[in-house]
Amino acid sequence: MDGDFRTTFVREPGALKQHPALVLNADYRPLSYYPLSLWPWQDAVKAAFLDRVDIVAHYDEVVRSPSMTLQIPSVVVLKDFVKPQKRVAFTRFNLFLRDEFRCQYCGTKTELTFDHVIPRASGGITSWENVVAACARCNLRKGSKSLRQAGMSLFKPPRQPSASELLNMGRKFPPNHLHESWLDFLYWDAELEA
Ligand SMILES: [Zn+2]
Repeated sequence: MDGDFRTTFVREPGALKQHPALVLNADYRPLSYYPLSLWPWQDAVKAAFLDRVDIVAHYDEVVRSPSMTLQIPSVVVLKDFVKPQKRVAFTRFNLFLRDEFRCQYCGTKTELTFDHVIPRASGGITSWENVVAACARCNLRKGSKSLRQAGMSLFKPPRQPSASELLNMGRKFPPNHLHESWLDFLYWDAELEA
């Protein structure tokens, strides 16, 4: 494990049987939601031995070495606070996340593609402000027309999201496989809905 805590996350939390540990920042919030900050259990154990984390919760399973038996950690918390990243990467995934995985024209969640609001043919660039999630049907319907020419409108004007906006979005779309001991830490600070 090197100095950057973010580089070593387990990308496939579906592998719950591999006992990944949820990594919390020193404020007990997950270090990241996308991807969810999960370490292989070996890294979590190593970090605990190096005194960089405290173990908050365990799996039932244990690992044995000739000299000791250890319960596998399921949640660890960093002793030193890591500043959250400020800049949001312009990636396909983050763009879909900003748009809540919905077509920005009709709201459907299927067959999502990307649409240039000002078409490339008219000089539209590929940026947070000019690309939205759009279903294949709306994308086809809009073609290389402007919004006005196509008679279509957007749910909201596209813009670059802040890191905390994306973080809040991320909470709405949890990964498929969660260990029960993670749940308290994933949702305790989520905004309450009236
Ligand atoms: Zn659509």
